[in-house]
Amino acid sequence: MRGRARRDPAVRVHRRVETHPAVRPGSVLRHAPWTIGPDPAPDRDPPAMYAACKDCTEQGPVGTDRAACDMWALVHAGRTGHRQYRECVSVDLYARPANETAGTS
Ligand SMILES: [Zn+2]
Repeated sequence: MRGRARRDPAVRVHRRVETHPAVRPGSVLRHAPWTIGPDPAPDRDPPAMYAACKDCTEQGPVGTDRAACDMWALVHAGRTGHRQYRECVSVDLYARPANETAGTS
């Protein structure tokens, strides 16, 4: 046979994919505890919330005012008679190694 051997089309070649370039066979991974809590940044976004009716799929507008969130639910209750609601709140979080001093990033 001359030159390169022809590849059998029935044989599929699977490309090896590294999921992370720094991790190779034999790598030592360090296990370290981390903590997570409210983002300490002074310019973080305020908590955003909305009320959602559990008796139907209607949701109130997203905002930062809890009274407005409650008012939407009360108006919805008065209009529909629906009584079950869920308050959904989104808060920015910040994760750091447990031994890192708070306030640094
Ligand atoms: Zn409803």
